[in-house]
Amino acid sequence: MEPNKQNDWVARSLRSVWHPCTQMQHHAAQNNAMPLIPVSHGRGAWLYDHEGRRYLDAISSWWVNLFGHANPRINAALKDQLDKLEHAMLAGFTHEPVIQLSEQLSALTDHQLGHTFYASDGASAVEIALKMSFHAWRNSGRADKQEFVCLQGSYHGETIGALAVTDVALFKDAYGPLLRASQTVLSPDARNAQEGETAQDVARRAAADVARLFAERGDKIAAIIIEPLVQCATGMAMHDPLYLTLVRELCDRHQVHLILDEIAVGCGRTGSFFACQQAGIWPDFLCLSKGISGGYLPLSLVMTREDIYQAFYSTDVTRGFLHSHSYTGNPLACRAALATLQIFQDDDVLATNRVRAAKMTQALAPLARHDKVRHFRQRGMIWAFDAIDAAPDFSRRFFTTALEHELLVRPIGSTVYLMPPYILDDGEIATLAAGTLAVFNQVMAG
Ligand SMILES: *Cc1c(COP(=O)(O)O)cnc(C)c1O
Repeated sequence: MEPNKQNDWVARSLRSVWHPCTQMQHHAAQNNAMPLIPVSHGRGAWLYDHEGRRYLDAISSWWVNLFGHANPRINAALKDQLDKLEHAMLAGFTHEPVIQLSEQLSALTDHQLGHTFYASDGASAVEIALKMSFHAWRNSGRADKQEFVCLQGSYHGETIGALAVTDVALFKDAYGPLLRASQTVLSPDARNAQEGETAQDVARRAAADVARLFAERGDKIAAIIIEPLVQCATGMAMHDPLYLTLVRELCDRHQVHLILDEIAVGCGRTGSFFACQQAGIWPDFLCLSKGISGGYLPLSLVMTREDIYQAFYSTDVTRGFLHSHSYTGNPLACRAALATLQIFQDDDVLATNRVRAAKMTQALAPLARHDKVRHFRQRGMIWAFDAIDAAPDFSRRFFTTALEHELLVRPIGSTVYLMPPYILDDGEIATLAAGTLAVFNQVMAG
């Protein structure tokens, strides 16, 4: 339709936009290693460029989009909110969307996590949970509890505090000198099973590592932070819920806070609204972001328990939680979140996703038994598998080949994963499964 317009947008973007998580040189036209795609609009599970090509957004635009692009119900809620209140500061002021959202989130945890603190992006939520944990201990006379524990392969964001509890070498190594040390424990990744071991055995072994560390220096540790059920950014490493149950017991025994980072796995992604529900536990702090606004607006939050809230409640300003962001509790973002929660209710999303997920798993069966595939795995609305003997440029080649097949899929190393929005119909499920198989065969053939 307008090919020149498409190229023009690319050239202008490359001149002035510094794209995230990208070696910009790879986008340069002459080596064409990685195309840059200007998106003109989105509809449902599809993104469209300026030349009328379309891409099935099989990774929910970095795991944020739950109910499709330009969702009519979320759009309507936002249009209504725009004419009422776009923003007001949350210090000294409050408003309907933030109140209703906090109440509904509390109810979703059976009022176990009844106090919600707001920010804008996931990394800030992690920073807040870390600061709150430390400060809650200090307010309780335990100022010596200052250390944080994370898991091998953990990812909690890329600001300096969040990066300190992240264990992805590519993101962390370059900035190592800036970061506070943290303790790293074994990952319960079920792929670590040794001969004859079950996923539960791996969970027990990983929990024993936590027990060892807590016994050694629990009195110095403020909190352990975990991505429950699926460590996404390291390559969709999945573990048995038993791990969370065991770590919860250890946290209680050794007086260590449990921070669950549900930024990627919350909001129904693993099959329950919160991933931790599958382990029958609640954390001391729960972080949400990404899907909570339906993928519309930057919104993150930290939910916590009554006793932690009470540790800050005082006439003394310095005992209060000292943290704020300009857009804390933004009404538009909260309204998008309310519309998202409404869809969960109206469409019985957790139940319909179970049916959708079973169909998807069945459609992916040829990949599950492919002789170049190992560790095919699924939890809720996440599917992943590892390519055997993948070439070093597997991930980039898979991504560019997938685009030719109208699919947006970005493998992590040699792990291919699908994390689609919760709206795929039977035709889209078939298209996605067949396309993923075709792309995989093409890339593996070299
Ligand atoms: C994406 C992510 C973050 C960081 O969120 P941002 O909004 O990108 O800062 C933190 N933790 C997990 C588990 C994530 O997936």
